[in-house]
Amino acid sequence: PDTPVTVVGLGLMGQALAGAFLKAGHPTTVWNRTAAKASQLVAEGARSAPTLDDALAAGPLTIVCLTDYQAVHELLDGSDIQLDGRTLINLTSGDSAQARETADWARRRGARYLDGAIMAVPQAIGTAEAVILHSGPQSDFEAHKPTLDALGTVTHLGADHGLASLYDVAGLAMMWSVLNAWLQGTALLRTAGVDAATYAPFARQIATGVAQWLPGYAEQIDSGSFPAEVSALETDARAMAHLIEESEALGVNAELPRLIKKMADRSIAAGHGAEQYPVLIEEFSRPAAD
Ligand code: NDP
Repeated sequence: PDTPVTVVGLGLMGQALAGAFLKAGHPTTVWNRTAAKASQLVAEGARSAPTLDDALAAGPLTIVCLTDYQAVHELLDGSDIQLDGRTLINLTSGDSAQARETADWARRRGARYLDGAIMAVPQAIGTAEAVILHSGPQSDFEAHKPTLDALGTVTHLGADHGLASLYDVAGLAMMWSVLNAWLQGTALLRTAGVDAATYAPFARQIATGVAQWLPGYAEQIDSGSFPAEVSALETDARAMAHLIEESEALGVNAELPRLIKKMADRSIAAGHGAEQYPVLIEEFSRPAAD
C-alpha cells in the first residue's frame, strides 16, 4: 500500500480509479486538464501535480484514463519527460490497433506499457465486481499487480497489447447478443400477454444452458471439424425460418432473426448444411458478402 501511483485523467472513471488507490493507502498523485476535478481527491489525501510532467515524474507507475486515444496522444506527445523505466498503464477505451500503436510509441519513449480495458462502471471500481483487463508484457503486469489490485479484479490476458481491447469488444458482442435474443423473445411473448418478468427466468435458464455448450463448440472451431453431434445447421435454419415467420405473423420485428438466417443460408449454400452450428465461424470470420 505504500507504493506511489499517479492517475492522469480525472473524468468519472479516473476519479474512481484515484479514489480506489487512495482508499487502499497508496500515495496518489493526480493530474487533470481541468484542474478543478482534482479537488475532491485532494480532500481525500491525493497530491495534485501542478503539471503533467510533474505527475509523470512522481513515481514509477502512471495510470492514464482519458476519453479516447486521440486525447492520450495529444496529451502525452506534448510532454518531453523521460519515461525511461517508468510504467504507463492506459485504461482508455480504444481498439486493438490503437493499443499496439501506443505500445510502440511508449517503447520509443523508453516506457514500459500495458494496455487495459475497464469492464465496470465507476461506482464498482475498488470492488471485486470491477473486472479490469490488461495486456502487454507479463513481467510488467506482475510488477504492478499488488498496486492494481486496489482497483478490483485485475487480470492479464497475454503479451499482445491488443488483447485487452479485443476481449473488451468480444465481451460487448456477447452481452448484446444475449440481451437482443432476450428482447426478441420478450416481444413475442408480450403478444400473448406474458410480461417480461414472467419470461425472464425461462430466458435465463436457456442462456445459461447454451453458455455451457461453448467449451465443446470451441473444440470444434479450434480443430476445424464440425460433425453434427446434436443437430445439423440445416435443421437450425428451419427453426430460424419458424422464428422469422412467427415474428412476422405477430407483428414483431424480424430483422435480427432474418440476419442470422441469411448467414446460415450462406453457409449452407457453401456446402455446410450437414455440419454443426459453430461452422458459422467461417461466416463470422470474413466481411459480409453484401
Ligand atoms: P469523462 O468524459 O468523464 O472524462 C474524460 C477525461 O478525459 C477527462 O479527464 C478529460 O479532461 C480528459 N480529456 C479528454 N480529452 C483530453 C485532452 N485532449 N487532453 C487532456 N485530457 C483530456 O469519461 P470517463 O472518465 O467516463 O471515461 C474515461 C475512459 O474510461 C473512456 O475511454 C471510457 O470509455 C472508459 N470507461 C468508462 C466507463 C464509465 O462507465 N464511465 C466504463 C468503462 C470504461 P477534462 O476534465 O479536462 O475535460
